Amino acid sequence: MKIHNFSAGPCILPETVLHEAAQAVSNFNGLGLSLVEISHRSPDFVAVMEEARSLTKELLNLPERFDVLFLQGGASLGFLTAAYNFLPEGGHAAYVDTGTWANKAVKEAKHLGGVDVIGSSKASNYDHIPVTSGVPQGSSYVHYTSNNTIFGTQFKNAPSTNVPLIADMSSDIFSREFDATPYHLIYAGAQKNMGPAGTVMYAFDTEAAGKTGRNIPSYLDLQVHASKDSMFNTPSVFPVYVTMLTLRWIKAMGGVKAMEARNGEKAALMYGEVDRNELFEGHAALTSRSTMNATFRLKDDAHAAAFDAMWKEAGVSGIKGHRSVGGYRASMYNALPKESVQILVEVMKELERKA
Ligand SMILES: *Cc1c(COP(=O)(O)O)cnc(C)c1O
Repeated sequence: MKIHNFSAGPCILPETVLHEAAQAVSNFNGLGLSLVEISHRSPDFVAVMEEARSLTKELLNLPERFDVLFLQGGASLGFLTAAYNFLPEGGHAAYVDTGTWANKAVKEAKHLGGVDVIGSSKASNYDHIPVTSGVPQGSSYVHYTSNNTIFGTQFKNAPSTNVPLIADMSSDIFSREFDATPYHLIYAGAQKNMGPAGTVMYAFDTEAAGKTGRNIPSYLDLQVHASKDSMFNTPSVFPVYVTMLTLRWIKAMGGVKAMEARNGEKAALMYGEVDRNELFEGHAALTSRSTMNATFRLKDDAHAAAFDAMWKEAGVSGIKGHRSVGGYRASMYNALPKESVQILVEVMKELERKA
């Protein structure tokens, strides 16, 4: 039976990518060697890293002054790396609190400087993107989480401010077009929308980084990594390779613009049913809904056992909601086909007919 993978992360990847990656694990580029047993300094792997970096730049339409790195430590280390490289000694920055991950970013930045929370939707269990108050004078940047994977909310536009932006785009990178000009840093763990777990992408303004007046430990210093072409230490070769293949796939599909159109169709289908079907209700406020993660619940839990049995029977996988929200979460990342959403919607309709 075909399985429809709605996992929130690690995420579904294109079938062709998995197939090619499997091949490279046994015999990479016809070398007679596995991708995971050759030197990361070999021409064959250096080409992989370079292609991953240049495809990122191309697909995100990054300004010339940006550099792209694929490092380790996940977005969780990104919270700290962001502050190390862009929050000056004795300085402060503004953060928008839109959920679990945004909170963790605040916590890490506090190790290094002052944090002003300029908006929070905590009081309503993060069911919307809050209106932000003014950015305090002298803030080095505004940090926000573009898509809140757990709560299913998403910024439709970046916060409007003259202060440089830093964004954790872990769960919606490459899902829609945006203008990178106002950003100092964009970072994203690979496993939500671009690859397997094990690498995190940093895209940053090389002219703005490192002007903090503090000594940055080597591994946390983005400039150190840039000067070594993202090979300061042994990179996570397999995750970077699979990410590169996924970026090739995105390009072949028509780029980020095409992803955005596909994702819009899937989200419209999904939310259309959540709104139409009397048995269900959404978690996120209408104007804050994420195109990536749809959070919803049954109005009456009495239907839960029947619904759970039906979607499992249909081959749907990974829609159980995060414990902090409950209910269900359908993650519709780039590689999820529209047909999978159709199947889930059919199950919801079927439940309504039987209820
Ligand atoms: C999953 C996630 C993280 C954490 O990523 P790790 O790679 O596990 O550190 C951070 N931010 C967002 C928005 C996420 O979805």
